[in-house]
Amino acid sequence: MDFLRPDNLLRSGYKDCVLCDVLRPGEEERCRDCSGRLDQRDRLLWEIRRERIRKTAGLLSLVYPGLGHFYSGRIVYGVFWASLLPLTLGLVLNVGSGITFGHLFLLVEAGVIWWMAYVDARRGPCEVEAPCESACPANIRVPDYIALVREGRLLEALALVHDKLPFAAFCGRACPHPCEQVCVRNEFGAPISIMAIKRYAADLGYAAGIPPSSGESGQVGGPRVAVVGAGASGLSAADTLARLGVLVTVFDGYAEPGGMMRYGAAEFRFPADALLADVTRILARGVRFRGGITFGKDVTFSSLAAEGYDAVLIAVGAREALRLPAAGGEDQGFHDALSFLVRVREHRFPRLPGRVVVIGGGNSAIDAARCALRMGAAEVTIACLESREAMPAFAWEIEAAVSEGAKFLPGTAVIRFLLKDGKVAALEAMKVERVDLDPDGKVLPRTVPGSEFEVPADTVVTAIGTRADLSFLPEGASWKSRDPEHRVFRLQFPGGEPRIAVYMCGDCVRGPGTVVEASTSGREAALNIFEDLSVEDVERARYRDNYRRRPEPQVTDCPEGRVRRRAERLSPEVARGTFDEVERRFTDRCAREESERCARCNLSL
Ligand SMILES: Cc1cc2nc3c(=O)[nH]c(=O)nc-3n(C[C@H](O)[C@H](O)[C@H](O)COP(=O)(O)OP(=O)(O)OC[C@H]3O[C@@H](n4cnc5c(N)ncnc54)[C@H](O)[C@@H]3O)c2cc1C
Ligand code: SF4
Repeated sequence: MDFLRPDNLLRSGYKDCVLCDVLRPGEEERCRDCSGRLDQRDRLLWEIRRERIRKTAGLLSLVYPGLGHFYSGRIVYGVFWASLLPLTLGLVLNVGSGITFGHLFLLVEAGVIWWMAYVDARRGPCEVEAPCESACPANIRVPDYIALVREGRLLEALALVHDKLPFAAFCGRACPHPCEQVCVRNEFGAPISIMAIKRYAADLGYAAGIPPSSGESGQVGGPRVAVVGAGASGLSAADTLARLGVLVTVFDGYAEPGGMMRYGAAEFRFPADALLADVTRILARGVRFRGGITFGKDVTFSSLAAEGYDAVLIAVGAREALRLPAAGGEDQGFHDALSFLVRVREHRFPRLPGRVVVIGGGNSAIDAARCALRMGAAEVTIACLESREAMPAFAWEIEAAVSEGAKFLPGTAVIRFLLKDGKVAALEAMKVERVDLDPDGKVLPRTVPGSEFEVPADTVVTAIGTRADLSFLPEGASWKSRDPEHRVFRLQFPGGEPRIAVYMCGDCVRGPGTVVEASTSGREAALNIFEDLSVEDVERARYRDNYRRRPEPQVTDCPEGRVRRRAERLSPEVARGTFDEVERRFTDRCAREESERCARCNLSL
C-alpha cells in the first residue's frame, strides 16, 4: 500500500482535492487545502476502491485479527491486534491447574478481540466527524461548507455539497435537516441554521454559474446505463455515473425531470426555478433525459438490452396513492393528494371554493391543505389518526399550515362519507384514543365508542400514503441487498432472463422517505453499478482524501452570545393568497454571521 502515501500519489500525478468543480481566477491549479485539481472521477473511483479494501480487510481479520489491518496498510494497528490474541490465549494455555472461571473469561475476551479487530478493519481509520455530519443521511461535510460560506467562497461551498448531494437548492429549502437537531449549538440556545446556509450557497453559487465537471462522460466503448425514473434517486445516480464517465440515459413517464421534487412539493416551498438549477447542472454533465416514456410499456428490459445498455437502474419512487375504500371518484369531489398536487403544480386545477377536508398527517397532506387555502377554499381542515405531536409531517410545515389558517382534527378516524346529489357533503368520524400496529405494520386505530361526529366537506383530499408500482417486474424476480443499510438492491430473474444487470434504489425499495435519503440511495446505487461494470478502473484507483485533516483557525470572537439568524418569511396573510415562495434567502450579512456561530466540531484540536 506504499502507493497511498501522499508524496507517492503526488509523484504519480494524483492530487488531493474535493473541489474540482471550482474555477477561481488565478487559482485554477489550486484549491483550498490541497496542491491541485483532481478530476471528480478519481475521487469516486477511490471511494469504491476504499470500500472494497475495507470489505476484504474485514474478511481477513476474521481469519486472524490484524491481518486485515496489514492488508489495508494500517501496520501499527495490525501489530496491536495481532499480538493481543496470542497474549490472551497464552495466558489461558499457560495454566497447569485446570480451567477456572478466570480462564473462561479470558477465552471470551479472546473472542471479543477477534470481533473487535474485524469491526475496526471493516470500518477503516476513524475520522473525526461533527454531529451534524454524522446525522446527515448524505454525510455532507457540513462544518467545512459552513466555513467556506463564512469566508465568502460560495462556489467551493456548493461544490462540497454537490460532492455528496446534487440537490442543494431543494435540500436548502425543504430538507428535514436532522443535522440541526443534533447541532452542538443547541446547548447554547439554538442550532446553526444549516439548511438556510446551504440554500444561500446554492442560490448564489448557481447564479454565479458553477461549471460542472463532466468527468469522461460518454466515452466511446464505455459502459452505458439506463436509469428509469427522474426523481431524486434516479437523477442522483445519473449524476454520479456521469462523474464516473458512464453514458447515462434517464427515462421518465413525466415530460420533465424532477419526480416528486417537481410534481409533489408545492411551488411556495420549492419553486420551479430552484429545481431547474439543480437539474440543469446534472444534465450539463452529459446525462441524457428522455421524458414521456413509461417503463413496461414504451421500453422494457429486453428493449434496453437490445439498445446496448449494460445495466438498468429502477428508481420509480412510490407514487401509487393508497385509497380509502369508502372514497368515491373525482366527479363526486374526492381527490388523492398526489394527483391533486401534480395538477396544481401544472396549473391544471380550477379554483377550489367551499370547505376542503384533507385526510392524512404527512407532508403531502400539509402541502395539499396549504395549496387548497391558496386556491380560495373557505375552510381547510386536516384530519388524521395521529395526535398532533405524532404526525409524520415536519413540525415547521404544520406550524406554517396553522398560521395560514388550516384547522386540525388530530386523533380522528373517518368512518364513512355522506353524499348529497351525488357529491360529497360531509364525512362521519370518530375520536381515536390509540393507534396500534398489527404484525404486518398495518395501522389499527382504537376508536372511542359513542364519539361519532360529522365534518362538513365539499371536497375531500386523501393523503394516506403511497406505495411503489412494480408491476413491470417479471414474475418470480428476487432482490439481493448490496449495502448494509439496504438502500440498493440487485435483481435476479428466474432463468437468467432478461440478460441485463438490474438494480433498484430510492423510495421504490425503502418506501416513502425524503429527498436526501433517496439521493443517497441513488449515489450508492451508482457506485455499486460502476463497481460491477468497470472492475479494472476501480482496481487502478489511487487517491487519498485528507481534505478535512488540516487544522484551521477557530472562530475567536465569542459567537456563543449571538442569536440564531432566521431568513425572512412572507406573513401568513400574504402567503395564503399567493404561490410565491414563503421563505426568503439569507442576506449576505445573515449568512456570514450565522456561519460564524459554527463551532467546527469536526476539527480535533
Ligand atoms: C407531496 C410531497 C411532498 C414532499 N415533501 C418533501 C420535503 O419537503 N422534503 C423531502 O425531503 N422530501 C419530500 N417528499 C418526499 C420526496 O419527494 C421523495 O422521497 C423523493 O422524491 C423520492 O425520490 P425517488 O427518486 O425515489 O422517487 P420520485 O421522486 O417519486 O421519482 C420517481 C420517478 O419515476 C417515474 N416513474 C415511475 N414509474 C415509472 C415508469 N413505469 N416508467 C417511467 N418512469 C416512471 C415517476 O414519473 C417519477 O418521476 C415529498 C413527497 C411528496 C409526495
Ligand atoms: S456547531 Fe457547526 S460543526 Fe458543530 S454540530 Fe453545529 S453545524 Fe455542525
